[in-house]
Amino acid sequence: MVKRLAIAKFAHESNSFTPGETGDAEFEAYGWYRGNAVPERYAGTRTSLGAVLDFLKGHPEWQGTFLTSAAANPAGPVTDATFEKIMGEILGGLRGQSWDAVYLCLHGAMLCAGNPKADEEVIDRVRKVVGRTPIGVSYDLHGNLGEAQIKVATVAVGYKTHPHVDMYETTEKTLRLLTAAVDGRIRPIGALARVEALFPSVNMRTTGDGPMAEMEAIAAAAEKKYGVLDVTVFGGFPYADTPYAGGSIMVHADGDAALAERVAREVAGEMLKRAPRFQMELPTPAEAIRKALASPPGCAVVLENSDNPGSGGIGDTPGLFRALIEAKPDVPTAFAFFRDEPAVAEAHKAGIGATLDIKLGGKLSDLFGDPVPVQGKVVMLTDGRFRNVGPMSTHLEVSLGRTALLDVRGIKVILTEHCVSPNDPGFLLMHGIDPSKLRLLCVKAKNHIRAGLLPYVKTIIDCDAPGPATIDMRNFTFRHLPEALMPN
Ligand SMILES: [Zn+2]
Repeated sequence: MVKRLAIAKFAHESNSFTPGETGDAEFEAYGWYRGNAVPERYAGTRTSLGAVLDFLKGHPEWQGTFLTSAAANPAGPVTDATFEKIMGEILGGLRGQSWDAVYLCLHGAMLCAGNPKADEEVIDRVRKVVGRTPIGVSYDLHGNLGEAQIKVATVAVGYKTHPHVDMYETTEKTLRLLTAAVDGRIRPIGALARVEALFPSVNMRTTGDGPMAEMEAIAAAAEKKYGVLDVTVFGGFPYADTPYAGGSIMVHADGDAALAERVAREVAGEMLKRAPRFQMELPTPAEAIRKALASPPGCAVVLENSDNPGSGGIGDTPGLFRALIEAKPDVPTAFAFFRDEPAVAEAHKAGIGATLDIKLGGKLSDLFGDPVPVQGKVVMLTDGRFRNVGPMSTHLEVSLGRTALLDVRGIKVILTEHCVSPNDPGFLLMHGIDPSKLRLLCVKAKNHIRAGLLPYVKTIIDCDAPGPATIDMRNFTFRHLPEALMPN
């Protein structure tokens, strides 16, 4: 007999400290698909929903129904109206039908204007509609989770990598456990142990030998040693002001609540021990550029973490760009990027070869520094569409809105209409910029860019400047954060 799987995605990583909210327009721009438009978007991609499609292909006994898939770039909290609209679509699709299982693709660090525990709300509402039907959830490694949502869902799994190159595998595992639960082969019971510390995401890479890489190894070893279904380490997203902020360990065991609790507590203890090692200090943009220019031959990258769109950055802070202009580098250099719709429109109107007198950065908010006046020659205009070629969300189509490439004193500067992290090399390549041919590349990005850029570059240096995702958490006023986690 054919079993019915309902599939929905509602993913947002919300930054409480970035200007503006995330509404309909932001979800429409990034990706809001309904029904059959969902498989059209994700077929053949190494994404969560790409994994669902492959699962359905390999399991003819399951029939999938795609309800709604809504995701937006990390930014301010989701407006209450948009939250209700997306939930309305998901719940409307679920109501009045019988399902054998529900798969929810969530991020785990979503906030609503009126609710700092938005992901929990999503699961609660779905549970109310589907009754006892098993629900499987997949999460991002940067989720801020609460215990209640672990208990309400049947089973959940989070990413194990940062950069996130295992979205596909995470959903594959979620579906494997979910369908095993439906068939009565396992009885997942979840536990969550909180880690009372705020972890900066800049030092949360699972590659190399940092503290998060150690945690992933510890979690994998615990999963094997205790024979539990899954152990996920959540680093949390510190810019989401929620009572659930901080790290946490989620464990699902087969029918053994005490074991799940014990393993979660044990692994959480290991993370708390390492908490001081997650903290780090970063150079200023000027220091980072100096270091980059003095680094061994090859392309040196300076990352402006504090305005990384993937952390709620606005693609507009001027800190790194100003330092770059002042440094006057006499080497092949590129800057990616400013999100600046009016400047892109001006460049498209003026045409290739035109010279513009414009200001860049500091235009969407005056919180992070003043605009930088420059003269730039328009050297390329594009429609901003490319397919990912790197290891994250491979083959997924990305839209930057229209873009313009300016030559500013010999520096190639990319301007876009949308605010998208240049994580995939395709972002640069479509503008004729081969990172391996540069000496200096300044980018508004964080860890994720390493996955795609490493084959092209020799040195990567993080820096910190004023911005909505600065590493210095003392800049922010929290309202919901537990007292023990307050930065001081
Ligand atoms: Zn993440």
